[in-house]
This record gives sequence, C-alpha cells and structure tokens, in this order.
Amino acid sequence: DNEQPKKPSWIRVKAPNSEGYKQTRDILKSQKLVTVCEEAGCPNVGECWSQGHATMMIMGEICTRGCTFCNVATGKPQTLDAFEPGRVAHAVQQLSLNHVVITSVDRDDLADGGAEHFAQTIRAVRHRSPNTTIEILTPDFLKCTPDALEKVVEARPDVFNHNLETVPGLYLEVRPGARYFHSLRLLQRVKELDPGMFTKSGIMVGLGEDRAGVLQVMDDMRAADVDFLTIGQYLQPTPKHHRVDRFVTPEEFKAYETAAYGKGFLMVSATPLTRSSYHAGDDFAQLRAA
Ligand code: SF4
Ligand code: SF4
Repeated sequence: DNEQPKKPSWIRVKAPNSEGYKQTRDILKSQKLVTVCEEAGCPNVGECWSQGHATMMIMGEICTRGCTFCNVATGKPQTLDAFEPGRVAHAVQQLSLNHVVITSVDRDDLADGGAEHFAQTIRAVRHRSPNTTIEILTPDFLKCTPDALEKVVEARPDVFNHNLETVPGLYLEVRPGARYFHSLRLLQRVKELDPGMFTKSGIMVGLGEDRAGVLQVMDDMRAADVDFLTIGQYLQPTPKHHRVDRFVTPEEFKAYETAAYGKGFLMVSATPLTRSSYHAGDDFAQLRAA
C-alpha cells in the first residue's frame, strides 16, 4: 500500500522570502557552499535562514550511501576541495554566527571517511571565529581507520552529533549500509575520548517504529552517555523515498520530550518540525547560560 497519510495542519511552513533569508542565501552562494537546508528540502529553511542559521554540508553533494529517507544524491563523489574549510570559515564569519552546524555526506571512498577534512574545517572556523560554538553532525566512519574519529574529536568541536536516525529494526530498510550498534558505539567513544564534549543524537519518527522502540533508543543513547536528543517527524522528500507511515501528533512528541528528560538528557527537542540542527544554537546558548 503506497498511499501516504495526509499532511496534518501542524506541518505548515512559511515560504522563504524575507530579507534575512536572501542575505544568508547570497553569502552561502558567494562562498559556493552546499547546505543541508537546501539539499534535504528542510521545511524550516525560511525561518532558519531569516535568522542567519544554516547547516553547511561539506565534502560535496554526492554521497556514497543511499539512505531511503534522504534526498542527497548517491554516486561517485567529487574530489575533496582543499579550499572548502577556508570558505566555510569565511561564510561563518560573514554570517556572524554564534553557533554553526557543519555536516557532510558519507565518504566511504576515503580511507579516513573525510575525518581530516572535518578537522580542518573545525580548525579554520575556530581560527576566524573563536567565539562561535561549533557543532558537527558526522557520518559513521564505519569502514575507516580507527584514528578517524580521534582526528575529529581532537579538533575539539563543542557539540558532536551523530544521528541514529531510526530504531534498529528499521535499519535495513531505512539506513542500509549503516549499523545501529556501530553508531551507538561511536557516540560512546566520543565521550570516552573527551568527556567534556557534548554529544548529541537524533531520530525521525513516522517511519514505522513504535513507541516502545523509541523509548528503547533513548535508553541506548543514555547508556552511551549521549547528552542531547532531537526527535522530528519524517517527511518524504519525493515519492521515490521511504513512505511516511504516519504523522506523530504534537501530544505524542510532548510525551517523548517528557520521557527523554526523565531519562536524563540535558537538552531535548521533540516536535514535528524538529531537525537535528533546528534551533541548535539557541538551545546550546541557553544551556551554557544555565
Ligand atoms: Fe537548515 Fe537545520 Fe534550519 Fe533545516 S533546521 S533549515 S537543516 S539549519
Ligand atoms: Fe543522506 Fe547521510 Fe545517508 Fe548520505 S549517509 S544518504 S547524506 S543520510
């Protein structure tokens, strides 16, 4: 049955057209940067860009994986651009970001999965904007040399995010090529390597998981010492992508949030339009001020 449930009223987005939106778009364009905001067709782009929040996607627009929820193209990736770290740093400065989220495609073609490029980008941003907090959202470094993760952690991002995306039972369908327990272990290793670093992870709901499964993922994350959690509604980017099983209600999201705080997460965002980078900076600033 391929019929999609109807989009409910709480999934509503404003068309992006503010001045702030255009300014952000022009700066990103002038630095030839790719954003996940656009690549993923994120519903929050109008709101985020009007406030100068954007999530940069490094290491090209072509991914070596083919997750069935994701709109990024799969194929043979581009060669790494040695000037990209500098351009990201420049854009972060031009946008006067207090907090930046940097993510990437998966690069199974590179021995270190792009870890060194990630580290260089973190260092370049730090150098130009020492007061900007840096959040990275990384691939899983599944087939990489063991020092890949260490390289990234050594560059000292403020928040290390790696998304589990869904419950383990849906991995084969949703995230083929990834391994649930590998991703969980990666988060735990970050904390072991640098106990002062905040770790973060997230899942999408509405893919076919049930409530017990979501609560189990939360427990698994807490067992791996994950600090921050995001849960958002999965939206199908095109009809070729994984279907939406159902729309989780705002009340159910609220209940997930309550449960997550009860399990000890320091920061939780669980709403239909939550994305892993949604309001990341505001939330982090609040936490640091507290
Ligand atoms: Fe970009 Fe994240 Fe905002 Fe979406 S939620 S527009 S991906 S910064
Ligand atoms: Fe998309 Fe990331 Fe999966 Fe690549 S690894 S297909 S960028 S979700």
